[in-house]
Amino acid sequence: MAAEGIANILHRDTLSVIVGERLMKRGEECFNAGRVTMISPGTGELRGTVRPNEAGREPYTTRIWMRDEGLAYECTCPIGIKRQFCKHAVAIALAHLADERKNIDRDFGVLREAMLTVPQDALVTGLLGLAKNDPDLATSLKRICLEALSSRAPETD
Ligand SMILES: [Zn+2]
Repeated sequence: MAAEGIANILHRDTLSVIVGERLMKRGEECFNAGRVTMISPGTGELRGTVRPNEAGREPYTTRIWMRDEGLAYECTCPIGIKRQFCKHAVAIALAHLADERKNIDRDFGVLREAMLTVPQDALVTGLLGLAKNDPDLATSLKRICLEALSSRAPETD
């Protein structure tokens, strides 16, 4: 369990259930305000730094990690010191999720370019090979073809 990436359990919905709606909202505000200044994902844990709202305070150091019983957390803010889940822990989790999404988008951008560049034959052969072992993929490909054909049909002018 601990060896898994922390992003595996840190889906937005899961997080919301764990911390509750109110804390989730406060974490979102903290993240949206750009107060997460650094995150550093490790194996089964996530560390981060959050800029305090009040001037003159040291940045809060926050960490969340996986334990068998679920999610563990610590933070140097007044609430975190009392061993309660604080909005900073939520904010670094949200920052991590946003980063992951950006990475996926970038990977797909590269893949898109490659798919547009290779000869169509190569793509068709490769996809058919995969679809032979994957009925769901075969169904999806059929749907894509049907949709592409039906959206092309009305172009009469
Ligand atoms: Zn905190």
